[in-house]
Amino acid sequence: MTRRIGLIGYPLGHSISPIFQQAALDALGIDARYEAWEVPPDQLAAVESRLRAADCLGANVTIPHKSAVRSLLDEIDPAARAIGAVNTITRREDRLLGFNTDAPGFARSLERDAGRGLRDSRLVLLGAGGAARAVVAAALLEGAVQVTVAARRVERARAIIADFQAGPLATTRTRLDPVPLVAADPRLGAAVADCDVLVNATPVGMGSDAATDPPIALDRLARGALVYDLIYRPPLTPLLREARARGAAILNGLPMLVYQGAASFELWTGQPAPVELMRRAAEEALRG
Ligand code: NAP
Repeated sequence: MTRRIGLIGYPLGHSISPIFQQAALDALGIDARYEAWEVPPDQLAAVESRLRAADCLGANVTIPHKSAVRSLLDEIDPAARAIGAVNTITRREDRLLGFNTDAPGFARSLERDAGRGLRDSRLVLLGAGGAARAVVAAALLEGAVQVTVAARRVERARAIIADFQAGPLATTRTRLDPVPLVAADPRLGAAVADCDVLVNATPVGMGSDAATDPPIALDRLARGALVYDLIYRPPLTPLLREARARGAAILNGLPMLVYQGAASFELWTGQPAPVELMRRAAEEALRG
């Protein structure tokens, strides 16, 4: 029986996951199809029967369903619960289990592509949406010492921090500070001057407008810091261009996308993912 894996989202026009996931399944000779399941928000409940069908190995979940899909599942792992979002579903027997592989995807990409661990590190995180939550989870799980969460609506940064402090990943090891994302904020300036990794988890710089200003000035960036932009289209955002010009190490969002996909693949198949093959397929798809 040919198995199925769904990508549940709406709309799905630009996703490259079907390309690199199918390439991985084919390379390992796994008889399965990775399919785009475009599901409008008011029809999400109807995918439950597809997920529970005998031929289904599981699914990826993307915008706008990552939070709402939790109501269809039997169990949600602690990191996904803390993040408040599921991006991967597996079926074990007749139970649907939810995971979030964005957090390990972020941590793994930092280790493997930049040679940096999160343990004992200081992060500045720009943005307070879904991707920022995954970064905070990774920082807590891996033992970072400081995460400064900068958001244009500082109450959203406060809300994320309060959620994590009350959730299953809470730890006293990692200090979490909310600050407004404005150039003049002294606490943000001090954090940028003393960080190991600066992460952009806002969409500023996405798309093709190279003239966009970076979401933050880097004139005070700590020497030796890595600037990690979660955006992968374009591969070099205005933020990364400025960081590179200042001699900082840089990383774009493609490795995170590939490693979250690899972690999902391993949950569905129980086999090690062919990461380099997935990366090449993703790069090729982006060059399109
Ligand atoms: P989201 O939930 O919509 O959150 C976006 C955050 O950015 C919010 O805090 C938002 O603030 C803030 N923001 C938006 N426009 C801004 C601006 N002009 N100035 C300052 N802050 C701004 O989105 P998301 O899902 O977290 O995604 C964020 C980015 O990460 C996207 O570019 C996405 O493509 C990327 N991403 C990459 C990966 C990967 O695997 N590489 C995975 C997930 C996401 P408000 O709340 O005030 O609107």
